[in-house]
Amino acid sequence: MKYIVVTGGVLSGLGKGILASSIGLLLKSCGLTVTAVKIDPYLNCDAGTMNPYQHGEVYVMDDGGEVDLDLGNYERFLDISMGRDNNITTGKAYLNVIQKERKGDYLGHTVQIIPHVTNEIREMIFNVGKESGADAMIIELGGTVGDIESMPFVEALRQMRSELKREDIIFVHTTLVPVMGVVGEQKTKPTQHSVKTLMSLGIHPDMVGARCTDPLATETRRKISLFCDVPDEAVLSVHDVENIHEVPLLLEDQGVTDYVKRFLHLDIPEPDLEKWAEYVDILKNAEQTVRIALIGKYTHLKDSYISHMKALNHAGVENGVKLDFHWVEAGDLEKSGDTSVLDGCDGILVPGGFGYRGAEGKMLAIQYSRENNIPYLGLCFGMQLAVIEFARNVVGWEDATSGEFVEEFGIESEHRVIDLMPEQNGIDEMGATMRLGAQNVYLKEGTMVHGLYGSTEISERHRHRYEVTPEYIPAIEGAGMLFSGNDGGIRMECVEIPGHPFFLATQFHPEFKSRPWGASPPFKGFVRAAKERTG
Ligand code: GLN
Repeated sequence: MKYIVVTGGVLSGLGKGILASSIGLLLKSCGLTVTAVKIDPYLNCDAGTMNPYQHGEVYVMDDGGEVDLDLGNYERFLDISMGRDNNITTGKAYLNVIQKERKGDYLGHTVQIIPHVTNEIREMIFNVGKESGADAMIIELGGTVGDIESMPFVEALRQMRSELKREDIIFVHTTLVPVMGVVGEQKTKPTQHSVKTLMSLGIHPDMVGARCTDPLATETRRKISLFCDVPDEAVLSVHDVENIHEVPLLLEDQGVTDYVKRFLHLDIPEPDLEKWAEYVDILKNAEQTVRIALIGKYTHLKDSYISHMKALNHAGVENGVKLDFHWVEAGDLEKSGDTSVLDGCDGILVPGGFGYRGAEGKMLAIQYSRENNIPYLGLCFGMQLAVIEFARNVVGWEDATSGEFVEEFGIESEHRVIDLMPEQNGIDEMGATMRLGAQNVYLKEGTMVHGLYGSTEISERHRHRYEVTPEYIPAIEGAGMLFSGNDGGIRMECVEIPGHPFFLATQFHPEFKSRPWGASPPFKGFVRAAKERTG
C-alpha cells in the first residue's frame, strides 16, 4: 500500500481536505483503488455529539459512524463508501488505549503516549488499509502542525515513515501564501516557518501545496523550493478557483500525478479525467438556473449543509442546470411569519434538524410549498415536520406535534404524530445511540419515490430518534398524504402528496450517498421538478 499524508500549517481552513481528496481522485483516475483516513485531533470520540456550528455537518457512514464532513468529500471525490474507522480522533485512540490498559493488555508496563498511543494510532491506520484492500491511502491530519493536540499523530506518522520503504509514503504539507502591500507580493515566510515546525517534529515534506489567491509566481515557487528543500515541481500552486471540483484539474495541469507516480514508484497509466472535466464544465457553465430555498437553523455556516448542497449540485449537473441557493434562516421566518421570502423559488428543501427552535418557521415553508404547488424535498426532520404540518392544517389536529417538542417543553398534546422510536426508550447516553447508518427501505410500487429509484428495495443512511406514530397513519392517509416507503414493518420511511407536482420527504438522508454522476434519486427528481417549473 502507498500512503499519501497531507498535513497543514499556518492556519486552519486551508482546504487540506480538498487537496487531499483531489490527489486521491487523480490516483483513482489512473486505475488505482484508493481509501482515506481523516484524523481529527479533538477529544470527542466522534463528531456525533457536536453542534454543526463547531465543525459543520455531521456526516453519516453506511456502518452508522458519525464523522467529520471531510469524509463526505472523500466519498464523493473517490466514489467509494467507507466506515467509522476511516475517521480517527484523539478520543477514539485514547479510549482504545485506556480500555486495553483496564483489560490488562499492557500489564507490567507504564502506559505512555509514546509508544502506546502512537502504536495504537499506527495500528488504527494500518487496519483501515488492510480492511479496504486498496492500493493507496490518503491520510489527512486535521488541525495545524505545531498544535499540542496533534503531536501524537505527527509522531505516529513520522514513525510510519521510518517503518515503511521510502517509496511507499509521501508527505504533502499545505500552507498559506498571503499577498501583502500595494505591490501585491506573495509572501513565503509563513510557509517557511510552518515547514520548519514540521521538520522540527521529524517530518520533511516531499511536496508543498501553497494556498494562494492568484497562481504562484515563478519567483515565489522558486523561493519555497529553495527554503523548504523540495524540488520546484513539488511546489503546488493551489490558487482560488470558482469551484472546488476544479482542483484536481488544476493539480493535473501542474504535473502532480506524474510527480507522485515517480516518487511512489507507481507504474500506472495517465489519469482519465474526461468525465470529471465534463462534470465541472456543466457545473460552471449550465445556462439555466433554478432557485432552491434551504430552510435551516445554521444557515450562517454553509458547511452545516454541505452534503445537501453537493447532492443538489449533482442533481443540477444531471439535469443540465445551475443552482442558486437561497438561504432562509428558519428562526427569522418563524418570527416574521412572512413567507414572501420564498416567492420566486423553484423548490424548497427542509433538511435534517433537532429541537423546536426554528421548527414553526420550517413548517411555514412546508405549508407554503404544499399550498402553492412548489416542489418540496424534506429530509428526516423535514419529513417529520411535513407530517405535523399536514396533520395540523389538512387533517385538522391543531395540536399535532412531535415527542421531541413535548420532551423539550413538557407541553402535552393529544396528537403526537411523531414520537420517540420504542427502542430509544431508556437510552441515556447521547453518543452513537440514534438509529444510524444504512438500513433497508421498501418502496411501494407505483409511488413517485418508487419511480425515482426504479426499485422497491433500497438502502439509505439514517440518523434519528423519532418516527411517525403508526396509529395516526390511517387518518393522515385518509386526508391525502401517502406513506410510500417503510422499513419492512410499521416504521415509515417516505411520504408524498399525490397530485402535488413534487412533494417528497424521507426519514432517511439520501444526501449522504449522492455522488458526481451518481445523483441521489430524490434530489434528481426534485431538481427536475424545479426545472420544469421554470419552464
Ligand atoms: N430530530 C429528529 C429525530 O431525532 C430528526 C433527526 C434528523 O433530522 N437527523 O428523529
